[in-house]
Amino acid sequence: MFITFEGIEGTGKTTQIKRVVEFLKETGHEVDVTLEPGGSRIGKELRKILLNMGSTDITGPCELFLYLADRAQHVSQVILPAIEAGRVVICDRFADSTIVYQGYGRGLDPKLLRELNEVAVSGCWPDLTILLDIDPEIGLKRATFRNLDEDKTQEEGRFEAESIDFHSRIREGYLTWAALNRERIAIINADQTPDEVFSQIKEKILEILKK
Ligand code: C5P
Ligand code: MG
Repeated sequence: MFITFEGIEGTGKTTQIKRVVEFLKETGHEVDVTLEPGGSRIGKELRKILLNMGSTDITGPCELFLYLADRAQHVSQVILPAIEAGRVVICDRFADSTIVYQGYGRGLDPKLLRELNEVAVSGCWPDLTILLDIDPEIGLKRATFRNLDEDKTQEEGRFEAESIDFHSRIREGYLTWAALNRERIAIINADQTPDEVFSQIKEKILEILKK
């Protein structure tokens, strides 16, 4: 079983992933949590490059191929072996991030990105993708507070360097992409209490566990 989480910064992905892991473990599942970029050894190096690089310093295609390289390694080295061993894999961002950020956000063709992702994931698409949806103004506030809390100096750069316009484009891109992939992507309103958000995610997970 393969479940991914998507959404702009500040939607509460990390909090919800923790709760989902607890819930799945309590119900007897073996669970691995991973993330992109950075889920493999090579990926950790790529993450440093990707998240510390101002958007002016890297070309669109270079960024794209680094994300795809990260994913290809991650899928074959980490995700597939775990799924094959019967574990539930939960991944913080996956192929949809590339389609939305590099596609709807930075202007590459989403259809072409779908094809290129196919090379990177070789058939390993998620069984369920939880899209946490929020107004970027609210997300930005939450992310900023969190970064201050955690003194996250290294990785916050990318997000805060981008305009609200960019984040609105990302949000709209996610919603458009989700509408084209309804059978897999569940949109959850993230502007609710963590308990409310979790209970809606849980419903979706129970549905796919039944299948
Ligand atoms: O997953 P995390 O919240 O750490 O991602 C940090 C940032 O990386 C995102 O807010 C986004 O700006 C950027 N990103 C991107 N393209 C992707 C994935 C992430 O631009 N495919
Ligand atoms: Mg984050």
